[in-house]
Amino acid sequence: METRRGGCLCGAVRYELAGKPRMGVNCYCRDCQYISGGGPAHVLVASRRDLKVMSGNIATYWTEAESGRRVAREFCPACGTPLLSYTENRPDRIGLKVGSLDDASDFTPRVAIWMASAQPWHSLDIGLPRFQRLPRVGKYVIGEVIIAGLIKLARIIRPDAAKG
Ligand SMILES: [Zn+2]
Ligand SMILES: [Zn+2]
Repeated sequence: METRRGGCLCGAVRYELAGKPRMGVNCYCRDCQYISGGGPAHVLVASRRDLKVMSGNIATYWTEAESGRRVAREFCPACGTPLLSYTENRPDRIGLKVGSLDDASDFTPRVAIWMASAQPWHSLDIGLPRFQRLPRVGKYVIGEVIIAGLIKLARIIRPDAAKG
């Protein structure tokens, strides 16, 4: 089992991420633009139980997303490095910010979400399945397993078919 290591800019927070992260996501939502400094958030979806914080204090800031869900964003209170986010209803599933990994070179985004909030000057992940908001079926936001299926399907049809 692979273990990834990471932490914050000042070095106070150190963590280890075990297991295989499930999916790489680029999120263009307005909130992530604040957190990233203007770009999309690049996150690895992972299990909370696979993340072990080895050192440092972590602060949490809650917001209400456009979906109406409360979203927690964890960061180092000393240097401000964003570390991860999760929704109130699925605290076991985290989006780890790849900028906090010691080595993020193998990050592979599989899907781009919240394109509706993207800025005109963003590089728009042409070639990735892109969703205007969150992928959903009816009123249910679909999980990453189903998203993975949709991505395959979208690739077969045409690269940009997953828009909207
Ligand atoms: Zn720090
Ligand atoms: Zn976002």
